[in-house]
Amino acid sequence: MKKIALHWKILIGMALGVLFGYLASMLGWQNFVSDFIKPFGTIFINLLKLIAVPLIIVSLIKGISDLKDISKLSKMGGQTIGIYLCTTLFAVVIGLLAVNLIGPGRSISDKTREGLLSEFAVKAQGKIDMAMDQKDDGPLQALVDIVPSNIFSAISDNGNMLQVIFFIIFFGIGLILIAPEKSEPVKKFFDGLNEVILKMIDLVMLAAPIGVFALMADLIVHAPSGELISALLLYSMTVLIGLSIMIFLLYPLLIKTFTGKSYKFFFKGISPAQLLAFSTSSSAATLPVTMERVTEHLGVDEEVSSFVLPIGATVNMDGTSLYQAVAAVFIAQAFDIDLSIGDQLTIVATATLASIGSAAVPSAGMVMLVIVLGAIGVPEAGLSLIFAVDRPLDMCRTTVNVTGDATVSMLVANNIGKLGEPKEKNWDDFKD
Ligand code: ASP
Repeated sequence: MKKIALHWKILIGMALGVLFGYLASMLGWQNFVSDFIKPFGTIFINLLKLIAVPLIIVSLIKGISDLKDISKLSKMGGQTIGIYLCTTLFAVVIGLLAVNLIGPGRSISDKTREGLLSEFAVKAQGKIDMAMDQKDDGPLQALVDIVPSNIFSAISDNGNMLQVIFFIIFFGIGLILIAPEKSEPVKKFFDGLNEVILKMIDLVMLAAPIGVFALMADLIVHAPSGELISALLLYSMTVLIGLSIMIFLLYPLLIKTFTGKSYKFFFKGISPAQLLAFSTSSSAATLPVTMERVTEHLGVDEEVSSFVLPIGATVNMDGTSLYQAVAAVFIAQAFDIDLSIGDQLTIVATATLASIGSAAVPSAGMVMLVIVLGAIGVPEAGLSLIFAVDRPLDMCRTTVNVTGDATVSMLVANNIGKLGEPKEKNWDDFKD
């Protein structure tokens, strides 16, 4: 019998989760879902996060040590950061164009605005406080934060991925520079470990349909009322239009132009990672699967994917930057604040930086939005206006973030001659 492809299994899991969530809401089973369904979603996300740090460590060390010389590393590093920056800037500009043309905030009535402001004031304040903690630091704090003072404490905190990456690049450079007979056993050890971790990802993915079922059911049960969502429909549509341009036009176009690979090939290869990004709202939790798909199904050499993707998951957030641009202008429009061209340029700069600074976890983009609002003088309390629809938009922007990382990994691999044929055909499922 023909096996069902993984992305279909995940989609079926999601659809059943949504159905079950609606049913549970109607029957008043909210507590049952929280107590007995949600934990399976949490376990699934924990399993993915559990693998993320060991995977980054092992595959990055392997990737760098395979490079053989430092100049290759700096070439790849330069290209990666350059392309990441370009796609993020493009995303912000698309977001700004969409929100200025559509003007979703201009149609918000006073009544809706007051209602949203009072309903979500407390929740929004929590996010504002979180952002303020980060804002108090000096201008070079972000740079200081990259260098850990203790590798074990960096590894123990999943939010410190950049510190872990810093240590590994440093370690990898050391490994390249020592005599081959000394480095060989270390490389072999990490090679073997890498295989074990990839196998663990395969095993976790077997549970993906159940995991996403639980995540979606819980989400539906706790979703805000339809009335609130419809007040923000035009705003959500604006974000979605921008995100669709990224995912359906820009990325496939870049891939087609520079690598010659088709849209279909790309989406078939990356779709399970996209679906997971959508269900978990976390690029970090999705990272193990993104790595697996890009390497096994899109033909990117591990040397490239293991370097480009962990960095991308942490700093390259095209969806988040686009969303932050739209949200900032939307809130300004809703408060009747006119934004000058200078303000719009400030948004380009701050949304780019804020997206780089956003952690790869749910709703991080909203916390960093506070910085963008502050820079253009829009009241931070405006966060309450968009709270109701943040989660669904987070799911969509995370999908774009992950797709952007995968795209750039293909471009970089192609540039340095490391894009080959996929190890596994896209139409095959995961190996048993
Ligand atoms: N959830 C997003 C991510 O993990 C970040 C954000 O909130 O925009 O990529």
